[in-house]
Amino acid sequence: MSAPIVRFAPSPTGLLHIGNARTALINWLVAKRGGGTFVLRLDDTDVARSRAEFAEAIADDLAWLGIRPDRTLRQSERLHLYDAAVEKLVAQGRLYPCYETPDELERRRKRQLARGLPPVYDRAALKLGAEERARLEAQGRRPHWRFLLDHRTVAWRDLVRGECHVDCASLSDPVLRREDGTYLYTLPSVVDDLDLGITQVIRGEDHVTNTAVQIQLFEALGGTAPAFGHHNLLTTASGEGLSKRLGHLSLKGLRETGLEPLAVAALAVLVGSAEAVRPVLSLDELASLLDLAHISRAPAKFDEAELVALNARLLHMLPLSAVRDRLAALGVEGGDAFWLAVRGNLERLTDAVEWWRVVEGPIDPVIENHAFTAQAADLLPPEPWNATTWKEWTEAVKSVTGAKGRDLFMPLRFALTARDHGPELAALLPLIGGAKACARLRGERA
Ligand code: GLU
Repeated sequence: MSAPIVRFAPSPTGLLHIGNARTALINWLVAKRGGGTFVLRLDDTDVARSRAEFAEAIADDLAWLGIRPDRTLRQSERLHLYDAAVEKLVAQGRLYPCYETPDELERRRKRQLARGLPPVYDRAALKLGAEERARLEAQGRRPHWRFLLDHRTVAWRDLVRGECHVDCASLSDPVLRREDGTYLYTLPSVVDDLDLGITQVIRGEDHVTNTAVQIQLFEALGGTAPAFGHHNLLTTASGEGLSKRLGHLSLKGLRETGLEPLAVAALAVLVGSAEAVRPVLSLDELASLLDLAHISRAPAKFDEAELVALNARLLHMLPLSAVRDRLAALGVEGGDAFWLAVRGNLERLTDAVEWWRVVEGPIDPVIENHAFTAQAADLLPPEPWNATTWKEWTEAVKSVTGAKGRDLFMPLRFALTARDHGPELAALLPLIGGAKACARLRGERA
């Protein structure tokens, strides 16, 4: 099989959300796994709603996820291709001008429904002669253009959903071009998919019904339709659909709360699939878990609490090399020993800042029984310290003071870290070091 050429085609009308990330990532993983090409196509023919800052945000979000498009294109720069396709379709009699106003169409729809008929466009405009058209145009009416569907059943084997078929006789001829000459999504999408040689169109299942029309359009334009795969959609934990325009669970927002891109990617791809949601160390590993044919048909619920838990599980296994630069940007300079000591206590990477402060100081120790901690300070062994120092020292404190269990460990933890919880002290103590440990046990800020 030839290398896949796929595309992710958002319209830059809002911030990408976790559901868009699902589509983008599935396409990216399919491309990378097959040594193929990933195209970012900005569907910006809706000039009024498309904005440059959203286009930039999309590029930033994809980069954050680890997606580097091989090619980026904007539909607004390709209008000449769509105009050429229109000419071709008009010449074949597959695109015809219609003059109905939205009100007229609505009245017709209501009449059809009242008579128990499906509200399908009746093709009245097809019967207009040149004279009638001229008369309508003289009244100032401009045509919108409909694609004449072939009334047959269109079938395809969906990469996710298996055999699919749509009876096109039950569909209205779709409007491809508006009165003002602007394009609706369908025609530019097909023209671009043909021009780029897209091999697989992988997108959300909200596009299943468009597929039959698009297949007819591919054929009318002299091409062959690519394969199609329609994955299930993500909903919020309460079952609502996600919307780019409403800023639902935006990637930017998730990024700003300090979540790991790999955690977001793992959840976005694995939720609602046959694989258990679990942390992955790389997108390559995620690619090995992706199987389009085993994506569930039911909508998948995206639960932010599940993402936070997954983020923690991921951090607990990440090597320092994966986070070193970001830790440095947070002012955390600890090396491997620090990272291995604290990573098991992190929910988000930024939590490392707190433990770095505990190690570096100064902190104000919390002490109830000064005599006890002062005695413990006297018993600190000489440096160098290592992973067994804590055990040797606490055994010495235990045998001298008689304290044990919680009564032994809690006062020491409070004095050394000013907290009642945290990473293993066996790992923290050598990082804190003799001078600071001794001072804190004596109640001094250090
Ligand atoms: N711009 C369309 C959307 O965001 C693209 C759909 C497609 O992938 O064909 O829904």
